[in-house]
Amino acid sequence: MADGMGIHYRNKMADIKRLTKDGIEFADGQSIEAELKLVLPDWIAHDCLRDLPIADSAGFIKTDLLMRALGHPEIFVLGDCAAVTVPKIGGIGHQEAEIVGRQVALDMGRMDADEANEPLQPVVFCIGDMGEGKAYYVRSNAWFGGKDEVLKMGRIPYQLKMSYRNLFFMTHSKVRGFGLSLAQFAALKVF
Ligand SMILES: Cc1cc2nc3c(=O)[nH]c(=O)nc-3n(C[C@H](O)[C@H](O)[C@H](O)COP(=O)(O)OP(=O)(O)OC[C@H]3O[C@@H](n4cnc5c(N)ncnc54)[C@H](O)[C@@H]3O)c2cc1C
Repeated sequence: MADGMGIHYRNKMADIKRLTKDGIEFADGQSIEAELKLVLPDWIAHDCLRDLPIADSAGFIKTDLLMRALGHPEIFVLGDCAAVTVPKIGGIGHQEAEIVGRQVALDMGRMDADEANEPLQPVVFCIGDMGEGKAYYVRSNAWFGGKDEVLKMGRIPYQLKMSYRNLFFMTHSKVRGFGLSLAQFAALKVF
C-alpha cells in the first residue's frame, strides 16, 4: 500500500552498520540514501518489571487478550509494559484500558460476561502532522491478521489532527472515544 503512494517502505533489513551524512549502510551491504535519518531505539522494559515471574524474556508482562497476567488473573496489565502491546503506542494502550475497565466491572458484578469478555483486537490508528498544512492518516489491523489498511495524506487529515489537538486541550486531555469514530468517518467518507 505504502509503495503505491511513493513511500519506499522496507522491512526485514539487516542491522544498521553505519549512519553517514549521505544515508544508512546495512550489515549485508545494502544502503539507503537519506538526507534526514530518524532512528528509533528498541523497546526496553522498566527495571522494576524485568525480573517478575510474570515477565517474558525481554521484561514485558505476559497476558491473555483480556489483559490479565498469565497465571495471575487478579493482576491487570496494560499499555507499553504488556508484551501483547505491539507496537508500543498510546492508542493500543487506550483499547486495553477499556478492556480492563470492563473486566473490573465484570469482577464487581456490574457487567455480564458477554459484554465484558470482548478480547483485544488491536488497531494502529495514527494521524501525523507532515508540515505545510498536510498530515497522514493511518488505520490498520494488518499486523494483527486483519484486512484493514488505510493510508491517506493531505489537508483533510491535517484538519483532523488540528481538531484532535483542540479537543485534547478543551477536554483537558480526557478525549472521549467517539473522536476516533468521527476521524475514521471523516477520513474514509469525506475524501
Ligand atoms: C517520542 C514518542 C512519541 C510518541 N508518539 C505517539 C503517538 O503519536 N501516538 C501514540 O499513540 N503513541 C505515541 N507514543 C507512545 C505512547 O507515548 C506510549 O505508548 C504511552 O505513553 C504508554 O503509556 P503507558 O501508560 O503504558 O506507559 P508510560 O506513559 O511510559 O507510563 C509509565 C509510567 O510509569 C512510571 N514508572 C516507571 N518506573 C516506575 C517505578 N519503578 N515506580 C513507579 N513508577 C514508575 C514512569 O515514570 C511513567 O510515568 C510515543 C512515544 C514516544 C516516546
